[in-house]
Amino acid sequence: MVTLVNEDIQNLTDEEAIERIKAHKKELGKDLLILAHNYQRYEITELADFTGDSLAMAQKGKENKDAKHIVFCGVHFMAQTSRVLASENQKVYLPNHLAGCPLSDFAEIDQAETAWEEVSKIVGEENIVPVAYINSTVLIKALCGKYGGTTVTSSNCDKVFTHYFNQGKKIFFMPDQHLAHNTALKLGVPREKLNIFDPYQENGGLSVEKIKDSTVLLWKGFCHVHTHFTPKMVQDMRQRYPEASIVVHPECPEPVVREADYAGSTKFINDFVAQAEPGATIIIGTEINHVRNTAIRNPDKKIIELDRSLCPNMFKINLKNLLFTLDHLGNVNEVFVKDEVKKDSIAALEKMFSIC
Ligand code: SF4
Repeated sequence: MVTLVNEDIQNLTDEEAIERIKAHKKELGKDLLILAHNYQRYEITELADFTGDSLAMAQKGKENKDAKHIVFCGVHFMAQTSRVLASENQKVYLPNHLAGCPLSDFAEIDQAETAWEEVSKIVGEENIVPVAYINSTVLIKALCGKYGGTTVTSSNCDKVFTHYFNQGKKIFFMPDQHLAHNTALKLGVPREKLNIFDPYQENGGLSVEKIKDSTVLLWKGFCHVHTHFTPKMVQDMRQRYPEASIVVHPECPEPVVREADYAGSTKFINDFVAQAEPGATIIIGTEINHVRNTAIRNPDKKIIELDRSLCPNMFKINLKNLLFTLDHLGNVNEVFVKDEVKKDSIAALEKMFSIC
């Protein structure tokens, strides 16, 4: 689906677009819920009814039963999750359907089905569980639901891993290798028990013995926004700002996490800044709009980016395509998920809620 923005909107100034968006909000009242991810442009977060991480946004949609129209300012997999959790009488929209996620695209459903078949046959289905990071397509979540697995977020990944480790189960994790690697190491899993599964190779490029000996199999995927950061960036910033705390997201590679003072989810970063003393200097290694929004909302603290790393897909949502969606509400940019996929992905999401 191609997103259209007509000429009338194209020629508007930002101020004019904002006024028209506000007029729609006023007219629609509780029928409309605008949700924005933390990585959105500041002006979008200012217009949103709620700003948060992907799961919190999807839950907001579910809780707000009055909202007939949920406009989701984020990327495609997030809007899919919102669609899955929303009720039948709610419509979910994504202002730009080209806002995808390269991380979620790393795990394609055909490859994932084949991989699961290979791995579960080698170790026995009762000994391993498929786990999908929330940053995955609805089809990958559905695969996990179908085979008794779950989803995780970066805030609850350690709880979910602990839950399965306590049952003596191995984890087949898709699609972000770094979140799984950092979490498992934090929980004390030996490095040699964490093995990268390359879906382009038979058995992931691993021997049968290696698969049997693994505690976590890590799908070979990553978020380019977070792998942009390097240990050298952390070292340089530490030298420039010796008084600063350095906090990074767990989608960063392990050497970066090791070099930083703290690593945690988007919510962890928000809470960390909120709880810091006024005047504190905090260097943040995550998406640049999140860092900038955090700096604007915490003027009593000195917030600095570890480096500039933009998510170009999050950036595809703007005032004009948001306005276009509102001008044509009900007719453009709606997100759909097939019923059979919905059922299995809900099973995976529900499993996560029951564990956490
Ligand atoms: S920041 Fe990374 S995981 Fe998030 S939407 Fe962008 S590419 Fe995907």
